[in-house]
Amino acid sequence: MLLQDLRQTWELDSVFPGGSDSKELLAEINWTENEAKELAKKADSFTFSNENFLSLINELQSFSERLSTAGAFIGCLIAQDVKDKKAMALRGRLESVYAAFSNVGSVIDQKLMDISEDAWKDLMSLPEYEHIAFSLNERRVNAKEKLGISEESLINDLAVDGYHAWSTLYDLVVGRISIKVEIDGKEEELSVGQAENKFSSPDRNVRKDTFEKFVQAWDHEGEFCAASLNHIAGFRNEIYKHRGWEETLKEPLAINRMKEETLSAMWEAITSQKEIFVKYLDRKAKLLGLDKLSWYDVDAPLSSANSKMSYDEAAQFIVEHFRTLAPKMADFSEKAFLDGWIEAEDRSGKRPGGFCTGFPTKKETRIFMTFSGTPSNVSTLAHELGHAFHTDVLKEMPYYATNYAMNVAETASTFAEMIVADAAVSNAKTKEEKIALLEDKAQRSVAFFMNIHARFLFETRMYEERKSGQLSVERLCELMEEAQKEAFNGALDEYHPYFWASKLHFYITDVPFYNFPYTFGYLFSAGIYAKAKEEGPSFEEKYIALLQDTGKMEVEELAQKHLGIDVTKQDFWLKGIELAAADVEEFLALTEE
Ligand SMILES: [Zn+2]
Repeated sequence: MLLQDLRQTWELDSVFPGGSDSKELLAEINWTENEAKELAKKADSFTFSNENFLSLINELQSFSERLSTAGAFIGCLIAQDVKDKKAMALRGRLESVYAAFSNVGSVIDQKLMDISEDAWKDLMSLPEYEHIAFSLNERRVNAKEKLGISEESLINDLAVDGYHAWSTLYDLVVGRISIKVEIDGKEEELSVGQAENKFSSPDRNVRKDTFEKFVQAWDHEGEFCAASLNHIAGFRNEIYKHRGWEETLKEPLAINRMKEETLSAMWEAITSQKEIFVKYLDRKAKLLGLDKLSWYDVDAPLSSANSKMSYDEAAQFIVEHFRTLAPKMADFSEKAFLDGWIEAEDRSGKRPGGFCTGFPTKKETRIFMTFSGTPSNVSTLAHELGHAFHTDVLKEMPYYATNYAMNVAETASTFAEMIVADAAVSNAKTKEEKIALLEDKAQRSVAFFMNIHARFLFETRMYEERKSGQLSVERLCELMEEAQKEAFNGALDEYHPYFWASKLHFYITDVPFYNFPYTFGYLFSAGIYAKAKEEGPSFEEKYIALLQDTGKMEVEELAQKHLGIDVTKQDFWLKGIELAAADVEEFLALTEE
């Protein structure tokens, strides 16, 4: 089918008609407010019996579906028009509902713990729990590993001012930073985000000058950032100590449903294969006329060669190439383009970036992005379609079987992106264009295998040292530079010692260790992609079965069951790295003089 004259705005009225003026939406929000109160009463007075339990769980799931549908809808309204004040007010109301519902969750956790081991086993073996036993078990185990309900709720309450507040303070510091640079003889004042964008400027003077001023700015705010980071780490360490958790990685690993051996196997495989990526960085330095790259050269563009695509062409290109390896994903994507599930119009007033969101009660998804025709837009579109397809194959599952962790969340999106990126390389019209596309892939590998590795090394060491006291600005810089040198195999001339201050991810209090899941997701997906290429389109059935299980087992079991692979061993990880290395080899061959 030829995709042409596609609409570029999404269709939302079938979910709630009338946008932020929708009467139906308002009624739904009223309902969630009342229902959250009802559920709180039910949870408090809950007494265990098999029937009571099942009916409570079903009620909680259907409430969650309706709440997340309303939340997703409001998210869409704000994304399409960041000035939609009515939608923002509605979001505020829903946030209170989320908070109330999370307290209901704590009460339920307590009730789960009170059920005896035998009764629990019997209960979970009933067919009604086939898909959700894993997630309920996980909740029960997590609750047991924590302190009692009164201590945990005290921690939660104190965390508002004693923990999350440090993250808010950090945001304030970042917000007031302004970096003065001179570009083309004109003085410009840049925010942190704008300054970071300059690191991909083709002009080295701009990159270098911005970087120097950028580092000065962080040095100036260093004491504030160090205080925030020390207190965030100190608070976390202290809670772990009281809960009797010895390993800092215990919580991040549990959240990502993976074993420590798996994480170690992944980093060891990466560490053993860095040489080829060092060669890439060396070649890039040479192409830029430098002896060695500095931190601020890593993202510099080599050329401006990239051809643009219209939206219709991009849709056609994506669907066509999906079809070669994943025909069902191709059909799904075609439908998404035709049914108005994608908001892609290039206009002002939209929020930046891209995302995919789902309406569980409607069993539908929507994709948001701004399409201006660049290769990176095309890959974002493929990426979000991958997410949407993941949600789609889970739509018949009960709600509690659809919550997958961050490390597998990017599996389907990266898989989709890889298909399209490879197709783009083979379709490149000129050598220059091909080099630019391969460079883009190589840059991503450097980000996942080197930059994120440095973050992980720094963060594990910093948390360890924090156990015996606060770290000074100098010590944080030292630890960071060491981690970067190690992770980049000494390939750079100059590093970014203040990266611990400039990287927001270290200050996220809701999710600990916001780094290794990215690398995991990328390589996990690369390993799956390698299998798909070996087996062809018939692999898709296995792939879908794997996606359907992402919310109900640990990653080791997921890989074993669907791919026959042991992720605690390096072999699997090496295969994924090999694919990335092949792109670099091709890049090196094409840029050989
Ligand atoms: Zn994503």
